[in-house]
This record gives sequence, C-alpha cells and structure tokens, in this order.
Amino acid sequence: MRLVLLGAPGSGKGTQAQRMQARHGVPQVSTGDLLREAVAAGTDLGRAAKIVMDAGQLVADNIMLGIIRERLARPDAARGFILDGFPRTIVQADGLGALLADLGTPIDAVVLMEIDPEVLQKRLAGRRSCRRCGRVFHIETNPPKPGERCTDGKLHDLFQRPDDNEETVRERLSVYCERTQPLIDYYARKGLLRRIDAAGTLDEVNSRLEAVLASLTSAH
Ligand code: AMP
Repeated sequence: MRLVLLGAPGSGKGTQAQRMQARHGVPQVSTGDLLREAVAAGTDLGRAAKIVMDAGQLVADNIMLGIIRERLARPDAARGFILDGFPRTIVQADGLGALLADLGTPIDAVVLMEIDPEVLQKRLAGRRSCRRCGRVFHIETNPPKPGERCTDGKLHDLFQRPDDNEETVRERLSVYCERTQPLIDYYARKGLLRRIDAAGTLDEVNSRLEAVLASLTSAH
C-alpha cells in the first residue's frame, strides 16, 4: 500500500495515518514529524526548519525532497507507506512522482480529507502530542484513556505544538490554500484522487478511509 493523505492542517491525517500504520503494518511517513525530530536533535537542518515552521511557512522543496528520498529508502518503506504532510507543493509532487517512477513503485491513491475550516480551528486548538511516543490526542474528543501508558510505561507526556497557536494556524491554513490545494486538481487529473469526509469521530473517518482502501484492493 502506497498512499498519500492530503488535507488541511487539522484534517486528521496524522491520527488516521497512525491508526493505519498499526493496522496495516506500513509506516506513517510524516515530514512534519521528521522535521520536529531534527529540531529536537538540534541539527543544522532542525535549527533552520524551526524558524520556518514557527512562522507557519513551508520548508524549501529541495530539502523536503532530500528528506523524503532518504526516508523512503529505509527498509521499512519497502512494503509501502502512508505519506502524511508530503507532498505539499506541485514541485514536491513532481519530485515524488519522479522518485517513485525510478523505483517502479507508483502511489496507489491520494486520499483528500475534506473538512470545514471552522472544525479545523477547533481541532488544532485542542490538539496535543505525547513528547515521548509522538501519539496525537485531542483534549476533548480523543484524550488518553484513564491510566493509559506510553511505550515506556509512564503516563503520556502531552504538549501543544508551538505552531498550533491561533496566529500560526491562520498562516498555515493560508499556505495550505495557496501552495497545497492545487495538488487536488493535480492528482485528480492523474486519476489518483479519492475524497473522504473528514468530519465526525475518529472511527467514522477511519471506516471511510478503510472503505477507500478496500475499493483499491478490489479494483486490482
Ligand atoms: P505538519 O506536522 O505536517 O503540520 O508540519 C508542520 C510544519 O512542518 C509545516 O507547517 C511546515 O513548516 C513543515 N513541513 C512539514 N512537511 C512539509 C513539506 N512537505 N514541505 C514543506 N514544509 C513542511
């Protein structure tokens, strides 16, 4: 399974990709997570990326393509992957297409997670991630279960992403409209686009996503 999840910040790409990773055994490849790891490690890339991320802007296409090339070459991606947050521009989509064409492993589908902008604001305002395991929660709609433990046996250590503040969210949504939305037509023209309603509970959205996957498998 080689899938791209496309959608605005807060549409649920990360949460659904984490679920699918657990269920289908193919890795979630989140370029946002890869960049946050570089920030946490204090590498040159991380230091440069942090400034761009905190401003709600996009990291340069050539850097992102380098990151994705390296990540998809790792052995766990050989059986497939779920791309979450990549590609975000036409240049990235062209680069990904060329890379996968070289490898002879094209993407199966691009799933657009459609959602009302008002819901996005609410989702992002309540979003929290675990500092240690990286799982994504929502303080109201998807909090950790009482007593639930992190991978290391301790309680989850939740934090709010610095770019989830109101002002940066506004900027990220406008960058999404300008730079990423054109990918909807781009993939529709290639016949790869599938749309799902990303409103509702995690389980509801997950079933819609699974239905798309099932339709791909049955079409093969
Ligand atoms: P995300 O976790 O996907 O919301 O990404 C967080 C931030 O990382 C974005 O707002 C961008 O600054 C940066 N980023 C993540 N993926 C990309 C990408 N494919 N291209 C450019 N910047 C990215």
